[in-house]
Amino acid sequence: MPRFVRRQYAAAGGYVFAKSAEEIARENGLDRVARLASNENPFPPSDAAVAAGLAALKEGNRYPAGHPDAVFRALKAVHGDHAFIIGNGMDGVIETVMRTVVDPGDRVVVSTPTFSFYGLAAAAQGAEVVNVPREPDFSADAGRFIEACRGAKLAFLCTPNNPTGNAVPVETVREILDGIDCLLFLDNAYIEFSDIDYRPLMKEYDNLIEGRTMSKAYSLAGLRFGYAFVPDRLLPHLDSASTPFAVNTVALAAAGAALADQAHIREAVAHVRGWRDRFMAEIPLPVTPSDANFILVDVAPLTGDEAMERLAARGVIVRSCRSFPGLEDHYIRVSIGADWENELFLRGIAGL
Ligand SMILES: *Cc1c(COP(=O)(O)O)cnc(C)c1O
Repeated sequence: MPRFVRRQYAAAGGYVFAKSAEEIARENGLDRVARLASNENPFPPSDAAVAAGLAALKEGNRYPAGHPDAVFRALKAVHGDHAFIIGNGMDGVIETVMRTVVDPGDRVVVSTPTFSFYGLAAAAQGAEVVNVPREPDFSADAGRFIEACRGAKLAFLCTPNNPTGNAVPVETVREILDGIDCLLFLDNAYIEFSDIDYRPLMKEYDNLIEGRTMSKAYSLAGLRFGYAFVPDRLLPHLDSASTPFAVNTVALAAAGAALADQAHIREAVAHVRGWRDRFMAEIPLPVTPSDANFILVDVAPLTGDEAMERLAARGVIVRSCRSFPGLEDHYIRVSIGADWENELFLRGIAGL
């Protein structure tokens, strides 16, 4: 055991990052590469968001407001009157929730295969993580999920799910909420690309949190701004567990302006939906129907890493899904990017 280091960090591991575009370009002697591994928005943030961020940078000598009212007003203008918390990305929001409710030894349930950060953050808190596998078609079975939640403190359900792309119907979420006693964190990082609206559930249940991020549809991945709809009664406790000044001044200003510019995100969403249909039709391998800005592709008999390496040699970075727990090792996840990136991917996958 390394000196000073906690048990959960003794072995190497943690979040698996995509290879950098620079690395791939260098390794393969390419001028430019298509960056389709991280589900980012290929378009820059809206002009209004950039202008607001630049202006805010000039006040970088000051701490942000303790309670940044403008961004909460912007959230309420978009979503109506809910209780919100904000954080340094949705990852920051997840950490706040974890710190607020999870004691060491508590059980945290995760519907898998899914985003790895729930398990990592739960382990950091000393929780016992229980993975509930999804069905072979990646749908979530309510009965199985409810069963696993017995005696748990907190549960995570990602919808639309990363990396499978499919969404859990509102009725299934309602069935789950009716059957559990613990807190449910619904991760809606990709909700803007779907037709589903889980927000009405916030009025019906007091054990539901809906997490959102501005990293995907809103083009602000580099700024790290996430938020969540939370039950009123939890708000003061979440606020007291949160890191002070968790969101920086530039991100606050840019996020507020980006929320006010809904036309910008409508454009990005229309782009994704158009290409999603084309990807579904033209990828010559089995794909999972997606409500998100990415698609899971079954590359068997290749492994995820083999397919990723072959595409990288053709200038396209996709995500090998090898590291997703609960997923067999023959999948890649491809994000919908700019037109040229998507064309390059379709040519690459056809020649795999
Ligand atoms: C990208 C992503 C997030 C994290 O978003 P940040 O706001 O960038 O921290 C959360 N959940 C899922 C499923 C994601 O894919």
